[in-house]
Amino acid sequence: MRADLHTHSTASDGTLPPGAVVREAAALGLDVVGLTDHDTVHGWAEAAQAAREAGIALIRGAEISTRTRRASVHLLSYLHDDADQALAAALEDARTARVRRAHEMIRRLTERYDLTWAEVQAVTPPGATVGRPHLADALVAKGVARDRDAVFASILYNGGPFDVPYDSPTPARAIALILGAGGVPVIAHPAAGRRGATLGDEELAALVAVGLAGLEVDHRDHTAAERAHLRGLARELGVFVTGSSDYHGSGKLNRLGENLTAADVVEQIAGRGRLLVIRPGAPGEERP
Ligand code: AMP
Ligand code: ZN
Ligand code: FE
Ligand code: FE
Repeated sequence: MRADLHTHSTASDGTLPPGAVVREAAALGLDVVGLTDHDTVHGWAEAAQAAREAGIALIRGAEISTRTRRASVHLLSYLHDDADQALAAALEDARTARVRRAHEMIRRLTERYDLTWAEVQAVTPPGATVGRPHLADALVAKGVARDRDAVFASILYNGGPFDVPYDSPTPARAIALILGAGGVPVIAHPAAGRRGATLGDEELAALVAVGLAGLEVDHRDHTAAERAHLRGLARELGVFVTGSSDYHGSGKLNRLGENLTAADVVEQIAGRGRLLVIRPGAPGEERP
């Protein structure tokens, strides 16, 4: 089984619409794809339709922004019930905070680059969770830099003068919300130090104690040594490991299917989530 459980679409900062991400995954011969847009489930319906048509299984998910005092932490939530009010409200709060933060980033950027909110809106798909990649696209459109990567390297890098934080729950709070909604919480790229501070082993253990179900180990931002360490830690803590691409369409170098999750882990996630995996040929069965 070939399963890639972490992808982004135009519902957040990917460059392909949700249906196109699913169709590309099917065309590559993947058996399972997870759609995990930042702080939203906006792409689920279109992705579900595409999965049924393209004959690939779909795990509906989201990548939830959280932070500790020290670190920004991304939590993947799989198969949570989108009708759960507490989680839905938290995601909406995150999107609102991101809009406010985008305005503040633009305010800082405009002194040097003359960037406006209208220019950012022009490159942000309708309904998308706004993020730094959209500001990057607007700067690219103005000719300030070549591509997203160049903007992140020189202007919008983590901890830089234009990287404004925004309100988000702690990882433990987000795990409680995910579990309350029947979702399966997995920490995304836990050792990706290039993105800034990461959690230590003790902090990860503390999250497992409150219900963290898995660690995303195979991810391009992890070195071989980091993967080996995380695999050992997962075994020690009794949680599963996943692998995924963190695909963003043409917005990043990550290629769909470049890292994969084992079949038995996909089955564990399917067995624990409140929503069913959407399987081809089983229309309308996605809600128990
Ligand atoms: P934000 O969520 O608004 O803080 O923006 C972070 C997002 O930017 C993450 O989803 C990353 O995948 C994306 N990102 C980080 N670095 C880069 C890069 N060098 N090129 C393109 N996208 C990036
Ligand atoms: Zn992203
Ligand atoms: Fe992430
Ligand atoms: Fe991601």
